[in-house]
Amino acid sequence: MIEFKNVSLVYPNGTQGLKNINVTINDGEFVVIVGLSGAGKSTFIRSINRLVTPTSGELFVDGENILNYKGKELRSLRTKVGMIFQDYNLVKRSSVLKNVLAGRLGHTGTLRSIFNLFKKEDLALAYESLKRVNIEDKLYSRADELSGGQQQRVSIARVLTQRPKYILADEPVASLDPPTSHQVMKYLKKINQEDKITTIVNLHFIDMAMEYAERIIGMREGEIVFDGPVSQVTEKT
Ligand code: ADP
Ligand code: ADP
Repeated sequence: MIEFKNVSLVYPNGTQGLKNINVTINDGEFVVIVGLSGAGKSTFIRSINRLVTPTSGELFVDGENILNYKGKELRSLRTKVGMIFQDYNLVKRSSVLKNVLAGRLGHTGTLRSIFNLFKKEDLALAYESLKRVNIEDKLYSRADELSGGQQQRVSIARVLTQRPKYILADEPVASLDPPTSHQVMKYLKKINQEDKITTIVNLHFIDMAMEYAERIIGMREGEIVFDGPVSQVTEKT
């Protein structure tokens, strides 16, 4: 469970990214956050794995306030809370397999993979994760030889090898065309349902959100202005 209690975030230049956020996200939910560019969606999502740090309030992940985490605690938080980015964040010149293994092993994974020192179970998990998103046939391709949609599927596979409890996806389809966007959203939804991974996705477009979300959180100027099931979303929200 993720709980924001009076969470605010002021960037060093004075911009208020989050204003007194109070919200609870329960285990297994598939939540979509919508709002215009600059609304605070990315700041909200990045607070949960501490890519940014709120300046006041409390943020609980599984009952622990994560705002003072450092070092080892932060690393284990970021294993539990996997992240998917708009621009995939793959190592472009590296193979699909090595990229996916990096999710499992972090930096040491990249080092070890140079010397082909992976363990059998890590390889098996990487392969299984690639199969979940139907891209196992590209195992040995270089990441930058793949289309955008394929690269995003590889980044989903990478996150799966972490065996995360939570997945945060920050505008995962913003660089993709509509058919590919739907494909990626379907994979995220399927994984949420099959693995019970709590998933929070930022999206620009309300119609895409309506199609996949169970619960929609609307943000504007750092605040939550709507929070409810898809059925309650009306014209004016
Ligand atoms: P969204 O994801 O909805 O586009 P963001 O969370 O990226 O919104 O941004 C929220 C607000 O915080 C915006 O006004 C943005 O310009 C500002 N902001 C984001 N990142 C930074 C930063 N590193 N420094 C200063 N202001 C930032
Ligand atoms: P995105 O739309 O993918 O969130 P942005 O263009 O908003 O990307 O931001 C790109 C980077 O610049 C992010 O790391 C964000 O934190 C930072 N950023 C965004 N707005 C500001 C700002 N007003 N001042 C400083 N940094 C910012």
